[in-house]
Amino acid sequence: SRNVGIDGASQNILIIGAGLCGSLLALRLGQRGYNVNVYEKRPDLRTVDISAGRSINLAFSDRGNKGMKLVGLEDNVKALCIPMHGRMIHDKDGNTFMSNYSGRDYEYINSISREDLNALLLTEAEKHDNVNIHFNKGCKSVDFENTTALFKDYLDKSEFIEDADVIIATDGAGSNLRKSYYLGRKFLFSFSQNYLTHGYKELSILPAEDGGYKTFKNALHIWPRGDFMIIALPNLDGSFTVTLFLSYGEGEYNFNNLTTPEIVTEFFEKEFPDALAIMPNLVDDFFENPTAPLGTIKCSPWHYKGNTLLMGDSAHAIVPFYGQGMNASFEDVVEFDAVLDEGHDNWEAIFKAYEKRRKPDTDAIADLAIDNFHEMKDHVGQAIFQEKRKIEMALEKAFPDDYSSKYSLVTFNEDIGYREAMLKGRAQDKAILNMLADGEVSTALDLTEIKNLKTILDKVTEETRAILEDDEIAGLS
Ligand code: FAD
Repeated sequence: SRNVGIDGASQNILIIGAGLCGSLLALRLGQRGYNVNVYEKRPDLRTVDISAGRSINLAFSDRGNKGMKLVGLEDNVKALCIPMHGRMIHDKDGNTFMSNYSGRDYEYINSISREDLNALLLTEAEKHDNVNIHFNKGCKSVDFENTTALFKDYLDKSEFIEDADVIIATDGAGSNLRKSYYLGRKFLFSFSQNYLTHGYKELSILPAEDGGYKTFKNALHIWPRGDFMIIALPNLDGSFTVTLFLSYGEGEYNFNNLTTPEIVTEFFEKEFPDALAIMPNLVDDFFENPTAPLGTIKCSPWHYKGNTLLMGDSAHAIVPFYGQGMNASFEDVVEFDAVLDEGHDNWEAIFKAYEKRRKPDTDAIADLAIDNFHEMKDHVGQAIFQEKRKIEMALEKAFPDDYSSKYSLVTFNEDIGYREAMLKGRAQDKAILNMLADGEVSTALDLTEIKNLKTILDKVTEETRAILEDDEIAGLS
């Protein structure tokens, strides 16, 4: 193993992929003085208009913001953010109601443009002389035993090999380093990929004639319909990016049978009439934009000796329903940086320590994201769930320092990991739902009642958590 020491300048780091995770990682390692070379298969998104390929905007929250604070970009990113204080639920009759994300006013999530955020990170990374970003160069495979990567230059079609002290792959859900681990068969590599039966398609609500927003700006809009849904997030230009989540083959309407403009329009007239009214461009969007699958990828180990490491989606791609994939990938960089601070003297020890502290948390957010798929498309429209949210809001208001719902623990409570948020949050959910089902609590609570409730709830949550953890050990959860 090599001596990393404190002299970053002696270490050459090759990063594959200049997406959200890779560009933040390059910037941070550049700040720490390492020699960083980044290879990105696509053209430079700051100079060429390339469609991001997926999710034009994203929900950005506290864990992602930790990454921005780490590199000193919090204010720059804030300028790109549109606050979303809650979910605005649209029922079939066009009625809307707002369900806040937190009982604390200062806790909210943000809508941010993937392209603007990525561009900012690239520009900041390139300000460092020791960081070089090479575009139009795709990695074909990685020789993880010799720490070299084979690239193809998409402009002149040539192929070339680069070596480095370490290679870190941030090449997303379809990672080629991960493929090389899998195909190489040189060590025991565990890998799972689970698709949802649902896919997604992006649509849009264009700005009003006067440039304003056609529906409420500061919310994440949801049209929950049980088995499917649309959501909409605002953009700075007055538009919204709308995403339809729908089964490929099941149900009356699905991606396989929405084949003509008439059927698509009929589907929206029936299920989302208020959205259709502000989407005159629906049919064009629907047939121009791709339908893409959604899946969860888990694997281990993430690293090979002290040579190579997977980070971001390449190590842990998740479904988007908690709005945490990018946030988790940014938190990866924060955690990796903290491990660098621990003063290990070789990369293998660094990679090992990083994976050990990070993997339980990324496994947890993968599972939480699946839970939230069902919550968003279905539960948010149900009375008992809405009552639970009312109680959670009351608890968060009455105990701002001492109570957080599962959603808040995951999204706003950056001091605890995803796994702790999952264990505590699931136990709380179960406890409140059981109390509601048994009629032990009503949503018309005064302050004395809410204080009593908190005492009971803390106790029940602890008991429920113990049961859930036993179930987990027994493999039942
Ligand atoms: P990516 O952003 O995918 O970047 C990978 C980069 O590597 C790309 O630039 C790619 O061109 C490049 N690359 C790929 N292969 C190669 C190669 N062979 N050689 C060189 N370069 C290569 N997350 C949130 O936090 N909030 C959200 O609201 C949210 N919404 C989402 C909605 C949808 C529909 C989807 C699909 C995802 C969403 N996510 C969200 C997740 C988020 O997009 C990812 O977690 C995040 O992009 C991961 O960053 P990454 O850098 O690891 O991967």
